[in-house]
Amino acid sequence: MNKENKIFFSNKTTYKIKTKHLFDIVFKHTLKCIKKDDSFYSISLSLVNQQEIKKLNQKYRNLDRPTDVLTFDYNGDTNIKNDLGSVIICPQVAEKQAKEFKHPLERELSFLFIHGILHAFGYDHMDEKDAKKMYKLQNNILNSLPIDFYTDLNKMKKLLLEAQKNSCATYSHFRVGAVVVTKDNQYHLGFNIENASYPATVCAERVALFSVYAKGYRKEDIVSLGCITDSKEVGTCCGVCRQVMSELMVLNCPVYIYNYDESKSLFTTVDGLLPYSFQKENME
Ligand SMILES: [Zn+2]
Repeated sequence: MNKENKIFFSNKTTYKIKTKHLFDIVFKHTLKCIKKDDSFYSISLSLVNQQEIKKLNQKYRNLDRPTDVLTFDYNGDTNIKNDLGSVIICPQVAEKQAKEFKHPLERELSFLFIHGILHAFGYDHMDEKDAKKMYKLQNNILNSLPIDFYTDLNKMKKLLLEAQKNSCATYSHFRVGAVVVTKDNQYHLGFNIENASYPATVCAERVALFSVYAKGYRKEDIVSLGCITDSKEVGTCCGVCRQVMSELMVLNCPVYIYNYDESKSLFTTVDGLLPYSFQKENME
């Protein structure tokens, strides 16, 4: 019996994976999502080149072409049930698919690894009904991964300062900048806009979010929100903004908050800022 989840990882390609511990996070999160986190598992994961995966595909599936991912499991053999077998991924094929789907390579690799792990637990896509179930599950797992594949934090930090500079904090002189990042790699700026009629004031986070919605984006398009304030310590978002964020962003969306010189930060999520948020469903 394993005492922790373990990946026997080998990279036989020249690809360097950017996100540290990427596959560990994906493995742990997938086990949690399919309710297999009551026990510990091991799996072998190899990254191989196109020629190698083509050979394996020919040998084991009689298909004379490269593929993205292959899984070799133990077909539920109970003696070795905590060893899930092995998953083989070809990053070259993954890279092509990532370009097609317009998402980062790391996200595609995570997707393929999830696919492999699900196979190792007996999920399949041989008939339409099983396929529907498996694809839905793997998408849910991918979309709920606690990894931000998109945001360039250096770029965000630079743009936060720029956004904050334009703040219209006429009365409080407390300047706040915000940036919302969308999946098409656009960074949308916002800042607080105050008014002589104080309640008419709108916070930076909401200015940025509303402008994103005004451009036609919706919550599924948003990958993160950042904000910066004049606070020495990390100031956080007000209650009104948290409520708006919980409706206009997905709940596990990352939120990055910085103090005035970006020397201190808080990384959280929408539901980290506002657990048990009041939602439309609560009105039904
Ligand atoms: Zn606010």
